[in-house]
Amino acid sequence: MSDLCDFPQLLAGLGVKPTALRLAVLEVLGASSKALRAQEILEAIRSKRRVNKVTVYRILDGFTRRGILRRLAIEDRVSHYELACEHHPPHPHFQCHNCGQVQCLEPAPLERMWRDLKGPLGNRADRIDIRVEGVCHKCREIS
Ligand SMILES: [Zn+2]
Ligand SMILES: [Zn+2]
Ligand SMILES: [Zn+2]
Repeated sequence: MSDLCDFPQLLAGLGVKPTALRLAVLEVLGASSKALRAQEILEAIRSKRRVNKVTVYRILDGFTRRGILRRLAIEDRVSHYELACEHHPPHPHFQCHNCGQVQCLEPAPLERMWRDLKGPLGNRADRIDIRVEGVCHKCREIS
């Protein structure tokens, strides 16, 4: 959840026009406690307004390139997206082999490593990705 995020301000600060659709994309992701597939983001927006799939996918691409979103690309799996703003520092993920769902894990150790990499060590860190694979609790109940 992202009570701290001010999406219009975030976009304005990056020189991106805060259109209703761009804000809708960020709000869907901000309201989710897990990373979402592009299709899930599209469906959430479509429950409230008519929208073109290509337009939403283009927004996701543009946001990812600008570092507003993180794209969690996991081998042959469909990409998942999540907010990458200051309130959502990089963190490890758990992905289910069976349903493909991606859960966000506590950021603590990674957050410190990320800060140190950028700070005292002076490196330019663009991406950090730690992933745990397994079977989620829902899939375990079924099998
Ligand atoms: Zn934020
Ligand atoms: Zn599962
Ligand atoms: Zn996450």
